[in-house]
Amino acid sequence: MGVNLPIYFDNAATTKCDPRVVEAMLPYFTEVYGNPGSRNHSFGWAAEEAVDRARQQVARLIGADRKEIIFTSGATESNNLALKGAARMYAKKPAGQEHRGHIVTCAIEHKAVLDPAKRLQKEGFDVTFLEPPADGVITRAMVEEALRDDTILVSIMWANNEIGTINEVPEIGALCHERGVIFHTDATQWVGKMPTDVVRDNIDLLSMSGHKIYGPKGVGALYVRRRRPRVRLQAIAEGGGQERGFRSGTLNVPGIVGLGAACEICMQEMDSERERLLAMRNRLEEQITGRLDTVQVNGHRERRLPHLTNISFGFVEGESLMMATKEIAMSSGSACTSASLEPSYVLKGLGVGDDLAHSSLRISLGRFNTGEEVDYAIDAIVRAVEKLRELSPLYDLHKEGIDITKIQWQAH
Ligand SMILES: *Cc1c(COP(=O)(O)O)cnc(C)c1O
Repeated sequence: MGVNLPIYFDNAATTKCDPRVVEAMLPYFTEVYGNPGSRNHSFGWAAEEAVDRARQQVARLIGADRKEIIFTSGATESNNLALKGAARMYAKKPAGQEHRGHIVTCAIEHKAVLDPAKRLQKEGFDVTFLEPPADGVITRAMVEEALRDDTILVSIMWANNEIGTINEVPEIGALCHERGVIFHTDATQWVGKMPTDVVRDNIDLLSMSGHKIYGPKGVGALYVRRRRPRVRLQAIAEGGGQERGFRSGTLNVPGIVGLGAACEICMQEMDSERERLLAMRNRLEEQITGRLDTVQVNGHRERRLPHLTNISFGFVEGESLMMATKEIAMSSGSACTSASLEPSYVLKGLGVGDDLAHSSLRISLGRFNTGEEVDYAIDAIVRAVEKLRELSPLYDLHKEGIDITKIQWQAH
Protein backbone atom coordinates (compact mmCIF):
# COMPACT_ATOMS: atom_id res chain seq x y z
CA MET A 1 0.00 0.00 0.00
CA GLY A 2 1.67 3.17 -1.12
CA VAL A 3 0.58 6.75 -0.84
CA ASN A 4 1.81 9.21 -3.42
CA LEU A 5 3.14 12.39 -1.86
CA PRO A 6 2.31 15.20 -1.65
CA ILE A 7 -1.34 14.60 -0.76
CA TYR A 8 -3.90 17.13 -1.98
CA PHE A 9 -6.39 17.99 0.78
CA ASP A 10 -7.24 21.52 -0.37
CA ASN A 11 -10.24 20.85 -2.59
CA ALA A 12 -12.09 23.91 -1.30
CA ALA A 13 -9.36 26.07 -2.86
CA THR A 14 -9.53 24.33 -6.21
CA THR A 15 -9.98 20.83 -7.61
CA LYS A 16 -8.15 18.75 -10.15
CA CYS A 17 -9.91 18.89 -13.48
CA ASP A 18 -11.61 15.53 -14.06
CA PRO A 19 -9.90 13.76 -17.01
CA ARG A 20 -13.37 13.15 -18.49
CA VAL A 21 -13.90 16.93 -18.47
CA VAL A 22 -10.58 17.54 -20.25
CA GLU A 23 -11.53 14.90 -22.81
CA ALA A 24 -14.82 16.68 -23.52
CA MET A 25 -13.08 20.05 -23.90
CA LEU A 26 -10.27 19.10 -26.27
CA PRO A 27 -12.13 19.18 -29.63
CA TYR A 28 -13.22 22.76 -28.90
CA PHE A 29 -9.70 24.13 -29.18
CA THR A 30 -8.72 22.86 -32.61
CA GLU A 31 -11.73 21.30 -34.33
CA VAL A 32 -14.87 23.16 -33.29
CA TYR A 33 -13.26 26.56 -32.88
CA GLY A 34 -15.96 28.83 -34.28
CA ASN A 35 -17.36 31.85 -32.48
CA PRO A 36 -20.83 30.99 -31.17
CA GLY A 37 -21.79 34.53 -32.11
CA SER A 38 -21.16 33.82 -35.81
CA ARG A 39 -24.73 33.21 -36.90
CA ASN A 40 -24.07 32.83 -40.62
CA HIS A 41 -21.83 29.78 -40.96
CA SER A 42 -21.47 26.22 -39.73
CA PHE A 43 -18.38 26.92 -37.59
CA GLY A 44 -20.45 29.31 -35.50
CA TRP A 45 -23.45 26.97 -35.40
CA ALA A 46 -21.36 24.06 -34.13
CA ALA A 47 -19.90 26.19 -31.35
CA GLU A 48 -23.32 27.54 -30.43
CA GLU A 49 -24.69 24.00 -30.25
CA ALA A 50 -21.92 23.03 -27.81
CA VAL A 51 -22.61 26.09 -25.65
CA ASP A 52 -26.33 25.28 -25.67
CA ARG A 53 -25.69 21.74 -24.51
CA ALA A 54 -23.47 23.00 -21.68
CA ARG A 55 -26.09 25.56 -20.70
CA GLN A 56 -28.59 22.73 -20.41
CA GLN A 57 -26.19 20.65 -18.28
CA VAL A 58 -25.53 23.54 -15.88
CA ALA A 59 -29.24 24.37 -15.66
CA ARG A 60 -30.18 20.77 -14.90
CA LEU A 61 -27.72 20.53 -12.00
CA ILE A 62 -29.46 23.41 -10.20
CA GLY A 63 -33.05 22.97 -11.35
CA ALA A 64 -33.03 26.05 -13.59
CA ASP A 65 -34.13 26.73 -17.15
CA ARG A 66 -31.26 27.01 -19.64
CA LYS A 67 -32.28 30.58 -20.49
CA GLU A 68 -31.49 31.51 -16.88
CA ILE A 69 -27.77 30.61 -17.08
CA ILE A 70 -25.21 33.37 -17.77
CA PHE A 71 -21.66 32.17 -18.38
CA THR A 72 -18.91 34.14 -16.65
CA SER A 73 -15.20 33.78 -15.87
CA GLY A 74 -15.90 32.29 -12.42
CA ALA A 75 -17.63 32.88 -9.14
CA THR A 76 -15.81 36.17 -8.49
CA GLU A 77 -17.28 37.67 -11.64
CA SER A 78 -20.68 36.08 -10.96
CA ASN A 79 -20.76 37.63 -7.47
CA ASN A 80 -19.72 41.04 -8.81
CA LEU A 81 -22.39 40.92 -11.51
CA ALA A 82 -25.05 39.75 -9.04
CA LEU A 83 -24.36 42.33 -6.33
CA LYS A 84 -23.44 45.38 -8.40
CA GLY A 85 -25.83 44.48 -11.20
CA ALA A 86 -28.86 44.07 -8.92
CA ALA A 87 -28.05 46.97 -6.58
CA ARG A 88 -27.56 49.44 -9.43
CA MET A 89 -30.67 48.19 -11.24
CA TYR A 90 -32.97 48.34 -8.21
CA ALA A 91 -31.42 51.48 -6.67
CA LYS A 92 -34.03 53.79 -5.15
CA LYS A 93 -32.03 56.89 -6.01
CA PRO A 94 -29.67 57.77 -8.87
CA ALA A 95 -25.89 57.40 -8.69
CA GLY A 96 -24.15 60.09 -6.69
CA GLN A 97 -26.81 60.24 -3.99
CA GLU A 98 -27.03 58.63 -0.55
CA HIS A 99 -29.59 56.13 0.78
CA ARG A 100 -29.89 54.40 -2.58
CA GLY A 101 -31.14 51.26 -0.88
CA HIS A 102 -30.25 48.71 1.78
CA ILE A 103 -28.30 45.48 1.27
CA VAL A 104 -27.88 42.61 3.75
CA THR A 105 -24.89 40.26 3.67
CA CYS A 106 -22.66 38.62 6.25
CA ALA A 107 -19.23 39.38 7.67
CA ILE A 108 -17.81 35.91 6.88
CA GLU A 109 -18.72 35.81 3.19
CA HIS A 110 -15.95 35.23 0.63
CA LYS A 111 -14.02 38.38 -0.32
CA ALA A 112 -15.67 38.15 -3.74
CA VAL A 113 -18.92 39.18 -2.01
CA LEU A 114 -17.48 41.42 0.72
CA ASP A 115 -15.49 43.63 -1.63
CA PRO A 116 -18.33 44.32 -4.11
CA ALA A 117 -20.56 45.03 -1.07
CA LYS A 118 -18.02 47.55 0.21
CA ARG A 119 -17.84 49.12 -3.24
CA LEU A 120 -21.62 49.54 -3.20
CA GLN A 121 -21.36 51.14 0.23
CA LYS A 122 -19.07 53.77 -1.30
CA GLU A 123 -21.61 54.26 -4.09
CA GLY A 124 -24.33 55.27 -1.63
CA PHE A 125 -25.96 51.98 -0.61
CA ASP A 126 -26.39 51.06 3.07
CA VAL A 127 -24.93 47.62 3.76
CA THR A 128 -25.52 45.47 6.86
CA PHE A 129 -22.76 42.92 7.44
CA LEU A 130 -24.38 40.36 9.76
CA GLU A 131 -22.08 39.08 12.52
CA PRO A 132 -22.22 35.28 12.67
CA PRO A 133 -22.87 33.40 15.91
CA ALA A 134 -20.13 31.13 17.31
CA ASP A 135 -21.36 28.17 15.21
CA GLY A 136 -21.10 30.23 12.01
CA VAL A 137 -24.63 29.52 10.72
CA ILE A 138 -26.65 32.45 9.36
CA THR A 139 -30.33 31.86 10.03
CA ARG A 140 -33.56 33.22 8.59
CA ALA A 141 -34.23 34.95 11.91
CA MET A 142 -30.96 36.90 11.73
CA VAL A 143 -31.74 38.12 8.22
CA GLU A 144 -35.34 38.92 9.17
CA GLU A 145 -34.15 41.14 11.98
CA ALA A 146 -31.89 43.05 9.58
CA LEU A 147 -34.49 43.64 6.84
CA ARG A 148 -35.79 47.18 6.40
CA ASP A 149 -38.44 48.81 4.24
CA ASP A 150 -35.72 49.94 1.85
CA THR A 151 -33.87 46.59 1.61
CA ILE A 152 -33.37 45.72 -2.06
CA LEU A 153 -30.92 42.82 -1.93
CA VAL A 154 -29.81 40.01 0.38
CA SER A 155 -26.62 38.03 -0.35
CA ILE A 156 -25.88 35.03 1.88
CA MET A 157 -23.52 32.24 0.84
CA TRP A 158 -24.85 28.69 0.82
CA ALA A 159 -21.85 27.01 2.44
CA ASN A 160 -18.83 28.73 3.92
CA ASN A 161 -15.52 28.05 2.18
CA GLU A 162 -13.38 28.00 5.34
CA ILE A 163 -15.51 26.11 7.84
CA GLY A 164 -18.09 24.43 5.58
CA THR A 165 -21.09 25.61 7.61
CA ILE A 166 -24.42 25.58 5.79
CA ASN A 167 -26.64 28.64 6.10
CA GLU A 168 -30.45 28.58 6.13
CA VAL A 169 -30.58 29.43 2.44
CA PRO A 170 -34.01 28.06 1.39
CA GLU A 171 -35.55 29.69 4.47
CA ILE A 172 -33.83 33.02 3.79
CA GLY A 173 -34.96 32.78 0.16
CA ALA A 174 -38.57 32.26 1.27
CA LEU A 175 -38.31 35.28 3.55
CA CYS A 176 -36.93 37.45 0.73
CA HIS A 177 -39.74 36.36 -1.58
CA GLU A 178 -42.33 37.25 1.07
CA ARG A 179 -40.78 40.71 1.35
CA GLY A 180 -40.13 41.32 -2.34
CA VAL A 181 -36.34 41.44 -1.86
CA ILE A 182 -33.89 39.99 -4.40
CA PHE A 183 -31.94 37.04 -2.97
CA HIS A 184 -28.44 36.11 -4.13
CA THR A 185 -26.40 33.17 -2.86
CA ASP A 186 -22.74 32.43 -3.47
CA ALA A 187 -23.11 28.67 -3.90
CA THR A 188 -19.57 28.02 -5.09
CA GLN A 189 -18.83 25.45 -2.36
CA TRP A 190 -22.31 23.92 -2.42
CA VAL A 191 -23.34 23.34 -6.01
CA GLY A 192 -22.22 20.06 -7.52
CA LYS A 193 -21.80 18.50 -4.10
CA MET A 194 -25.23 18.95 -2.54
CA PRO A 195 -28.68 18.69 -4.19
CA THR A 196 -29.77 22.10 -5.46
CA ASP A 197 -33.08 23.33 -6.86
CA VAL A 198 -33.29 27.07 -7.36
CA VAL A 199 -37.08 26.97 -7.62
CA ARG A 200 -37.71 24.88 -4.49
CA ASP A 201 -34.97 26.75 -2.61
CA ASN A 202 -36.25 30.25 -3.49
CA ILE A 203 -33.07 31.54 -5.14
CA ASP A 204 -33.08 34.57 -7.47
CA LEU A 205 -29.35 34.77 -8.24
CA LEU A 206 -26.79 31.99 -7.71
CA SER A 207 -23.02 32.04 -8.30
CA MET A 208 -20.97 28.97 -9.14
CA SER A 209 -17.51 28.16 -10.44
CA GLY A 210 -16.01 25.46 -12.68
CA HIS A 211 -12.76 24.82 -10.85
CA LYS A 212 -14.41 23.98 -7.53
CA ILE A 213 -16.35 21.11 -9.11
CA TYR A 214 -13.60 19.30 -11.08
CA GLY A 215 -14.02 21.57 -14.10
CA PRO A 216 -11.58 24.09 -15.60
CA LYS A 217 -10.46 27.36 -14.03
CA GLY A 218 -11.62 30.66 -15.46
CA VAL A 219 -15.21 29.70 -16.14
CA GLY A 220 -18.34 29.91 -14.03
CA ALA A 221 -21.99 30.81 -14.19
CA LEU A 222 -24.61 33.08 -12.70
CA TYR A 223 -28.18 31.85 -12.47
CA VAL A 224 -30.60 34.74 -13.04
CA ARG A 225 -34.26 33.95 -12.32
CA ARG A 226 -36.63 34.79 -15.17
CA ARG A 227 -40.04 34.27 -13.57
CA ARG A 228 -41.63 35.30 -10.29
CA PRO A 229 -39.72 37.49 -9.99
CA ARG A 230 -37.99 38.26 -13.28
CA VAL A 231 -34.62 39.56 -12.07
CA ARG A 232 -32.96 42.37 -13.98
CA LEU A 233 -29.32 43.36 -13.72
CA GLN A 234 -27.21 46.24 -14.89
CA ALA A 235 -24.35 44.75 -16.90
CA ILE A 236 -20.75 45.35 -15.87
CA ALA A 237 -19.00 44.27 -19.09
CA GLU A 238 -20.60 46.03 -22.05
CA GLY A 239 -19.87 45.29 -25.68
CA GLY A 240 -21.12 42.65 -28.08
CA GLY A 241 -24.29 41.94 -26.10
CA GLN A 242 -23.61 38.23 -25.53
CA GLU A 243 -25.47 36.36 -22.78
CA ARG A 244 -28.62 38.44 -23.31
CA GLY A 245 -26.64 41.59 -22.68
CA PHE A 246 -25.81 40.56 -19.10
CA ARG A 247 -22.22 39.74 -19.94
CA SER A 248 -20.60 40.84 -23.17
CA GLY A 249 -17.52 39.12 -24.53
CA THR A 250 -16.86 36.15 -26.82
CA LEU A 251 -17.78 32.99 -25.00
CA ASN A 252 -15.02 30.71 -23.66
CA VAL A 253 -16.34 27.70 -25.59
CA PRO A 254 -13.88 25.01 -24.35
CA GLY A 255 -14.27 26.27 -20.78
CA ILE A 256 -18.05 26.31 -21.04
CA VAL A 257 -18.07 22.79 -22.51
CA GLY A 258 -15.87 21.74 -19.57
CA LEU A 259 -18.18 23.37 -17.04
CA GLY A 260 -21.14 21.57 -18.60
CA ALA A 261 -19.36 18.20 -18.53
CA ALA A 262 -18.31 18.80 -14.90
CA CYS A 263 -21.93 19.53 -13.95
CA GLU A 264 -23.16 16.39 -15.70
CA ILE A 265 -20.64 14.21 -13.80
CA CYS A 266 -21.54 15.87 -10.48
CA MET A 267 -25.20 15.22 -11.17
CA GLN A 268 -24.54 11.50 -11.69
CA GLU A 269 -21.97 10.93 -8.94
CA MET A 270 -22.86 13.46 -6.25
CA ASP A 271 -24.77 11.06 -3.98
CA SER A 272 -22.20 8.28 -3.84
CA GLU A 273 -19.31 10.75 -3.68
CA ARG A 274 -20.89 12.56 -0.77
CA GLU A 275 -21.28 9.34 1.24
CA ARG A 276 -17.70 8.28 0.56
CA LEU A 277 -16.21 11.66 1.51
CA LEU A 278 -18.39 11.97 4.60
CA ALA A 279 -17.09 8.64 5.92
CA MET A 280 -13.50 9.71 5.21
CA ARG A 281 -13.97 13.14 6.80
CA ASN A 282 -15.57 11.63 9.90
CA ARG A 283 -12.76 9.11 10.32
CA LEU A 284 -10.20 11.89 9.99
CA GLU A 285 -11.98 14.07 12.49
CA GLU A 286 -12.69 11.29 15.01
CA GLN A 287 -9.11 10.05 14.93
CA ILE A 288 -7.53 13.47 15.29
CA THR A 289 -9.87 14.67 18.04
CA GLY A 290 -9.67 11.26 19.75
CA ARG A 291 -5.89 10.98 19.78
CA LEU A 292 -5.07 14.59 20.68
CA ASP A 293 -6.33 16.74 23.53
CA THR A 294 -6.97 20.48 23.30
CA VAL A 295 -8.25 20.45 19.74
CA GLN A 296 -11.50 21.99 18.53
CA VAL A 297 -13.56 21.58 15.40
CA ASN A 298 -14.70 25.00 14.19
CA GLY A 299 -18.25 25.72 13.05
CA HIS A 300 -21.57 23.94 13.57
CA ARG A 301 -21.01 20.19 13.90
CA GLU A 302 -24.09 19.08 11.96
CA ARG A 303 -24.88 21.88 9.51
CA ARG A 304 -21.64 21.37 7.61
CA LEU A 305 -20.42 20.23 4.22
CA PRO A 306 -19.60 16.52 4.41
CA HIS A 307 -16.14 16.72 2.86
CA LEU A 308 -14.60 19.53 4.89
CA THR A 309 -13.29 20.06 8.40
CA ASN A 310 -11.59 22.97 10.12
CA ILE A 311 -9.66 22.07 13.27
CA SER A 312 -7.73 24.27 15.70
CA PHE A 313 -4.84 22.81 17.70
CA GLY A 314 -4.03 24.35 21.06
CA PHE A 315 -0.38 24.79 22.09
CA VAL A 316 1.14 24.60 18.65
CA GLU A 317 2.31 27.45 16.50
CA GLY A 318 0.48 27.68 13.17
CA GLU A 319 3.55 28.20 11.01
CA SER A 320 5.41 25.30 12.62
CA LEU A 321 2.41 23.03 12.14
CA MET A 322 2.26 23.87 8.42
CA MET A 323 6.00 23.25 8.10
CA ALA A 324 5.73 19.93 9.94
CA THR A 325 2.95 18.69 7.65
CA LYS A 326 4.35 20.00 4.38
CA GLU A 327 3.70 16.77 2.51
CA ILE A 328 -0.05 17.34 2.93
CA ALA A 329 -1.55 20.30 1.07
CA MET A 330 -4.06 21.98 3.40
CA SER A 331 -5.11 25.53 4.18
CA SER A 332 -4.09 27.21 7.40
CA GLY A 333 -6.07 29.66 9.49
CA SER A 334 -3.64 32.36 8.55
CA ALA A 335 -4.16 34.48 5.50
CA CYS A 336 -1.12 36.01 3.87
CA THR A 337 -2.14 39.60 3.39
CA SER A 338 0.30 41.98 1.76
CA ALA A 339 2.98 41.94 4.42
CA SER A 340 1.75 40.23 7.57
CA LEU A 341 0.29 36.89 8.51
CA GLU A 342 -3.24 37.70 9.69
CA PRO A 343 -5.53 35.21 11.41
CA SER A 344 -8.49 34.21 9.24
CA TYR A 345 -11.30 36.78 9.41
CA VAL A 346 -13.80 33.93 9.25
CA LEU A 347 -12.45 32.21 12.37
CA LYS A 348 -12.09 35.58 14.11
CA GLY A 349 -15.70 36.29 13.14
CA LEU A 350 -16.77 33.17 15.04
CA GLY A 351 -14.88 34.38 18.10
CA VAL A 352 -11.93 31.99 17.75
CA GLY A 353 -8.89 33.59 19.41
CA ASP A 354 -5.88 34.66 17.34
CA ASP A 355 -3.65 31.81 18.56
CA LEU A 356 -6.19 29.08 17.81
CA ALA A 357 -7.07 30.70 14.48
CA HIS A 358 -3.40 30.67 13.46
CA SER A 359 -3.00 27.04 14.49
CA SER A 360 -6.02 25.79 12.55
CA LEU A 361 -6.13 23.58 9.49
CA ARG A 362 -8.83 23.41 6.84
CA ILE A 363 -8.88 19.95 5.33
CA SER A 364 -11.14 19.61 2.28
CA LEU A 365 -11.45 16.20 0.65
CA GLY A 366 -12.38 15.58 -2.94
CA ARG A 367 -13.19 13.10 -5.69
CA PHE A 368 -9.61 11.91 -6.16
CA ASN A 369 -8.69 11.35 -2.51
CA THR A 370 -8.36 7.84 -1.09
CA GLY A 371 -8.79 6.20 2.30
CA GLU A 372 -5.04 5.48 2.38
CA GLU A 373 -4.34 9.19 2.07
CA VAL A 374 -6.68 9.89 4.97
CA ASP A 375 -4.92 7.31 7.17
CA TYR A 376 -1.52 8.70 6.25
CA ALA A 377 -2.66 12.24 7.06
CA ILE A 378 -4.14 11.26 10.42
CA ASP A 379 -0.81 9.80 11.54
CA ALA A 380 1.24 12.65 10.11
CA ILE A 381 -0.88 15.37 11.72
CA VAL A 382 -1.10 13.63 15.11
CA ARG A 383 2.66 13.02 15.15
CA ALA A 384 3.44 16.59 14.11
CA VAL A 385 1.24 18.08 16.83
CA GLU A 386 2.66 15.75 19.49
CA LYS A 387 6.19 16.61 18.50
CA LEU A 388 5.58 20.35 18.52
CA ARG A 389 3.93 20.12 21.91
CA GLU A 390 6.94 18.28 23.33
CA LEU A 391 8.83 21.51 22.75
CA SER A 392 6.16 23.68 24.31
CA PRO A 393 6.64 24.77 27.94
CA LEU A 394 3.10 26.14 27.90
CA TYR A 395 1.75 22.71 27.04
CA ASP A 396 3.70 21.24 30.00
CA LEU A 397 2.06 23.76 32.33
CA HIS A 398 -1.32 22.98 30.80
CA LYS A 399 -0.78 19.26 31.40
CA GLU A 400 0.11 19.96 35.01
CA GLY A 401 -3.29 21.57 35.34
CA ILE A 402 -2.07 25.15 35.47
CA ASP A 403 -4.41 27.59 33.78
CA ILE A 404 -1.96 29.60 31.72
CA THR A 405 -4.44 32.40 31.18
CA LYS A 406 -4.22 33.08 34.93
CA ILE A 407 -0.44 33.23 35.14
CA GLN A 408 0.97 36.57 36.25
CA TRP A 409 3.98 36.93 33.98
CA GLN A 410 7.01 38.54 35.60
CA ALA A 411 7.97 41.79 33.98
CA HIS A 412 11.65 42.45 33.50
C1 LIG B 1 -13.56 29.94 -4.74
C2 LIG B 1 -14.67 30.78 -4.28
C3 LIG B 1 -15.00 31.95 -4.96
C4 LIG B 1 -14.19 32.48 -6.13
O1 LIG B 1 -14.38 31.67 -7.26
P1 LIG B 1 -13.51 31.90 -8.59
O2 LIG B 1 -14.20 31.07 -9.60
O3 LIG B 1 -12.15 31.42 -8.26
O4 LIG B 1 -13.56 33.34 -8.92
C5 LIG B 1 -16.07 32.68 -4.51
N1 LIG B 1 -16.80 32.27 -3.47
C6 LIG B 1 -16.54 31.15 -2.79
C7 LIG B 1 -17.40 30.73 -1.65
C8 LIG B 1 -15.46 30.37 -3.18
O5 LIG B 1 -15.18 29.25 -2.50
